[in-house]
Amino acid sequence: RIVVVGSLNLDIVLGVRVLPRPGETVAADRLLTAGGGKGANQAYAAARLTGEPGRVSMVGCIGDDDAGARLASELEHVGVDIAHLARVPASTGHASIAVQADGENTVAVFAGANEAWPDGHAGATPIRKGDVLVVQQEIPAAVVAEALSVARRVGARTVLNAAPARESARDLLADVDVLVVNALELAALVDAGTATARSQTQPVESMLAALDYDGDVVVTIGAAGALVRPRAAAPVRVPAHPVVAIDTVGAGDAFVGALAGQLADGADLFEAVAVANAAGGLTATVRGARHPGLDSAAVARVVRS
Ligand code: ADP
Repeated sequence: RIVVVGSLNLDIVLGVRVLPRPGETVAADRLLTAGGGKGANQAYAAARLTGEPGRVSMVGCIGDDDAGARLASELEHVGVDIAHLARVPASTGHASIAVQADGENTVAVFAGANEAWPDGHAGATPIRKGDVLVVQQEIPAAVVAEALSVARRVGARTVLNAAPARESARDLLADVDVLVVNALELAALVDAGTATARSQTQPVESMLAALDYDGDVVVTIGAAGALVRPRAAAPVRVPAHPVVAIDTVGAGDAFVGALAGQLADGADLFEAVAVANAAGGLTATVRGARHPGLDSAAVARVVRS
C-alpha cells in the first residue's frame, strides 16, 4: 500500500492575458476549479497508476463544506481510500491561481483545514510494514515529523517530497529513505538563508555533494528529467520523455505519486524514476495539476516512445 499524508486544496484557476499588478483588475478569459493540493495530487497519481481500489490511502484534513466534500469524492472516485480524511472545524484549503498566457503564474494558498490537524490524527496514520509513506510540506512540520516517525517505527519505507521548501526539513532526514526535491528545495536543505541565490548559481551536483544525508535522493529537473543519487553512490541523470509541455503545474506531484507507487510495487529506484518521469511529463501536457487520462497504459506508451 501507499499512504499519502498531506494537503488537499480546491484550486481556483483564472486564465488571464497579463497577470494583474497590485491595485489592478483584469478580465479573466478562463475559469477552472479543480481538486489540488500536493498531497491529494500525489495520491491521485499513485491511485491512477496502480489502478487497484484501496491500494492508496489519503490521510489529511478537509473542512465540513462543499469544497471538502468535492475533494474527498474526487479521490474516492479514482479508488483512493478516504477513511482517514478528517473533517475539521476550518474551511477546506483553497488555492487562488492566476495563469498568464505564457504560463507565468501567481498563486495564493489559504491552508485552512490543512493547518488544523486534530491531535493524534497523524499518529493514527494507517501504515504497516511493507507500505510506502509519502509526505510533503503543505501541512504542519510537526505532522510531517510524526507521520515519518510512525512509519519508521513500523518498518515502512518513507518518501519525503520536501516541497514547498522549508529549512526545517533537515531535521526530518533521519527518518527518510527517499528524498525528492527540485533544485530550489535542495538549496534550502543545503544552505539556510540563501536558497534562491544558491539554486540559481550552483549546479545540482555540487549541492548534492554538500547535502548531509545518506539516503536515496531524487532531484527533479523539469524537461531534463531527474538526477538520481542512490544511497552512497554517484548521481546519475535519468532523462525525461519528450512531450509537448503546456502547463507544468502538478508535474512534480505526479512524479512523486508515480515514484511511490513504483517503489511499493518493488521497482528499483531507477525503474521507478523512469516511470515517474513519464507521469510528470504526461501531466505537463494538460492544463491543471491532474491528468484525467493518467494510467499505467498511458505511462507505458510514453516510456516506450
Ligand atoms: P517542479 O515543478 O516540482 O519543480 P519539475 O518541473 O522538475 O518539478 O517537473 C517534475 C517532473 O515532471 C520532471 O522531473 C519531469 O519528469 C517531468 N517534466 C516536467 N516538465 C517536463 C517537460 N517539459 N518535458 C518532459 N517532462 C517534464
